[in-house]
Amino acid sequence: MRVNRRKFLESALAVGAVAHAGRAMGKSEEQEKPPGEFYEEPARRLPVRNFDVIVAGGGTAGVVAAMAAARQGAKTVLIEQKGYTGGIITEGGTALHSFFNVWKPYPGVKKLQLVRGIPHEIIERLTKMGGTSGHAELSMGYNHDSVCLAVDVEMYKLLSHTMLHETGVYVCLNTLLAGVVKEGRRIKGVLAESRSGREVLCAKSFVDCTGYGDLAAYAGAEYAEPNDYPLCNSMGVANVDIESLCQNLRLSQLAKGLRSGKEGQIVRVEGSPKAKGAGINLTTTTVHDHYLMFVKANVGGAWGKGKSWHVTDRDAMTELELEARKDQQEMIALIRRVPGCEAAFAARSSPSLNIRRGRVIECDYDLSLKDVLGGRHFDDDVMAYGFHDQCLKIGGGGGSYGIPYRALRAANIQNLLVAGMMITSDYQAHQSTRNTVSCMAQGQASGTAAALCAQQGCGTRDLAYADLRKALEKGGVYFDT
Ligand SMILES: Cc1cc2nc3c(=O)[nH]c(=O)nc-3n(C[C@H](O)[C@H](O)[C@H](O)COP(=O)(O)OP(=O)(O)OC[C@H]3O[C@@H](n4cnc5c(N)ncnc54)[C@H](O)[C@@H]3O)c2cc1C
Repeated sequence: MRVNRRKFLESALAVGAVAHAGRAMGKSEEQEKPPGEFYEEPARRLPVRNFDVIVAGGGTAGVVAAMAAARQGAKTVLIEQKGYTGGIITEGGTALHSFFNVWKPYPGVKKLQLVRGIPHEIIERLTKMGGTSGHAELSMGYNHDSVCLAVDVEMYKLLSHTMLHETGVYVCLNTLLAGVVKEGRRIKGVLAESRSGREVLCAKSFVDCTGYGDLAAYAGAEYAEPNDYPLCNSMGVANVDIESLCQNLRLSQLAKGLRSGKEGQIVRVEGSPKAKGAGINLTTTTVHDHYLMFVKANVGGAWGKGKSWHVTDRDAMTELELEARKDQQEMIALIRRVPGCEAAFAARSSPSLNIRRGRVIECDYDLSLKDVLGGRHFDDDVMAYGFHDQCLKIGGGGGSYGIPYRALRAANIQNLLVAGMMITSDYQAHQSTRNTVSCMAQGQASGTAAALCAQQGCGTRDLAYADLRKALEKGGVYFDT
């Protein structure tokens, strides 16, 4: 079933203060040209390399997609613009939500691990390295006693890269995907820029896991930019007395788990100041004593309140990067006022602002809130998921819904799948599908499908679902049907 394009745009653009549809608005190339001087770039002969599958973006979804493709035997390349893999899990994602259903508030509903397969494998290994809080149950607030998992971000970078190597993925770090080579509705290759030069990487199938949908947008996919979430640079803060910090906050969230090897320690907290006007309002996670792995400072402090920016506007974002860094230092000053935190400092920040969504790419199916809350499963499910950011009941409470294969197929392009925060135009439905564990599971589905398409020499729409399902089940994916 194809998505209704007008509905897709309406839904994607409904909430944002400044919303914007790229290409989809039908602007001609001439209209899009900025006024001013131009330089015609001369044509160049570029070296070409061939692969079965190209995964663009080595973040939350991309790491898993590339591993999944390589495990199917596909010659796979992963292109990542930064010097490490892991994406928002290592930069801003606070805690991973959630491998489980939300069972506790619903009598008779059993605790069920919905996301398994490669995401589970990564986390098991990270936990053995001492790099997670374990699946920590919320004892206060947020999402009706859900489960979250905090990670050591440096260990995640190391482990994800190591596992990619072990799987035989050709990993290109510090490499920017800068364009697309297309033939009709088929992508032939991508332009990759690095200090080794500009090259063309060709493949049979492509997976866009760039978060922002760069590959899809370069390939001419329809998309919207809703701009409906706040921007944020999450930092790591050292030299803190975590227990004292909690005593000085009016807590709205609390989870205990593994910290510095000890069970039952505070690992996730959200709180506001006890006295009005007294400062800090923070959400944080940790897996080590005296260190907050993530402290989120949303630019302007507000949750998506009428701010006007485009996340694809370089100059606007440059100004906001500065604003975020100022906000961080203000946050540090407030933390220092807490007894036991006088010497706190920002030990790490993200290389750039994080956003919960940039572009939303039009796919063959667009999940609705009704699908999510109704616990809908499809005849081409590629995963099951059961968490929503705003405490909304899934499947009547404690249930799951399915993400169908068609929701990962970029509309109008023959050989492109997308995975991660760029799917789902409806803001409320997106507050479920965008969560880290969902993105990881989408990665396994899209990488597996891309490899099968490459092997069978077919487009994404010609792949038999039975083949995909069989491969995903073999890869440990759980289907709640
Ligand atoms: C501030 C913040 C807090 C959050 N809190 C939570 C939370 O508590 N719990 C939760 O479950 N989820 C949370 N989320 C949501 C979740 O973390 C994201 O939705 C998810 O991680 C997105 O995964 P992704 O793979 O789509 O993108 P990413 O993880 O960002 O991966 C995209 C990758 O692509 C690379 N890339 C981009 N463009 C290019 C290019 N042109 N060339 C090469 N590489 C490129 C990037 O460098 C990056 O590594 C949060 C998100 C944010 C921003």
